[in-house]
Amino acid sequence: MLVRDKGLRGIVIALEHFNTISIEGNQIIAGSGAKIIDVSRMALEHHLTGLEFACGIPGSVGGALVMNAGAYGGETSTVLKKATVVSYSGELINLEEKDFQFGYRKSVFTEKDYIIVEAVFELQPGEYAKIKEEMDTFTALREAKQPLEYPSCGSVFKRPPGYFAGKLIQDSGLQGTRIGGAEISTKHAGFIVNVDGASSTDYLKLIQYAQEKVREKFGVELETEVKIIGED
Ligand SMILES: Cc1cc2nc3c(=O)[nH]c(=O)nc-3n(C[C@H](O)[C@H](O)[C@H](O)COP(=O)(O)OP(=O)(O)OC[C@H]3O[C@@H](n4cnc5c(N)ncnc54)[C@H](O)[C@@H]3O)c2cc1C
Repeated sequence: MLVRDKGLRGIVIALEHFNTISIEGNQIIAGSGAKIIDVSRMALEHHLTGLEFACGIPGSVGGALVMNAGAYGGETSTVLKKATVVSYSGELINLEEKDFQFGYRKSVFTEKDYIIVEAVFELQPGEYAKIKEEMDTFTALREAKQPLEYPSCGSVFKRPPGYFAGKLIQDSGLQGTRIGGAEISTKHAGFIVNVDGASSTDYLKLIQYAQEKVREKFGVELETEVKIIGED
């Protein structure tokens, strides 16, 4: 999520205290403010497989549900069993698999104004050493390919059908392009990194620039994965 420089008029609800994580058999019950990385570590400690993909995704359980966060062939939709949400009218609603409508980086949660409070993940018994090995492999891949040494919003653009956003940006010769303190990563062209006190405006201008250049060169529209909110 990228907040424009003039911020937000309204209430921002931080759910970081909804951060309990507990185990019931093969299920993990997690508050929406818990970190998905911690949930994945808890799964490892209890020899449960299914959440290895999430071991390096820096976000909350709520964010993972909304975005159907995924990596290395796994995604939230494959393990989410139930979710408890609060509607804007204050009603507590229990959702099940049939309600989630998961797609690529979208779900019922991107369509409706629900506030997620809790999630239940259904995992399978596994071998500690195998789960750990997979998580270590994913972590090594992430460290090798992603510019984790700088702050960023992760992948800026969604994968356009038939292409990879990073590759299109790379092939447009844009790596290293800088506006203010924001730079298209030289390590992974799908990331825009904050190398020197970037403002949201720097970031947004660079997003637009990359979109224009890729449109000109390849005729492909890059749509942002990062959610942009707040006032100009
Ligand atoms: C270095 C890096 C690597 C990343 N790698 C990946 C990756 O491999 N795969 C991937 O999918 N993503 C990746 N991301 C993107 C991001 O971390 C994930 O999409 C993450 O799941 C978003 O969670 P968040 O808590 O940060 O959500 P936010 O960005 O804060 O929010 C995302 C959306 O969810 C909504 N939301 C959040 N919590 C709730 C709630 N409780 N109830 C209702 N709505 C809510 C917000 O309003 C917003 O619309 C990466 C990001 C970075 C910086």
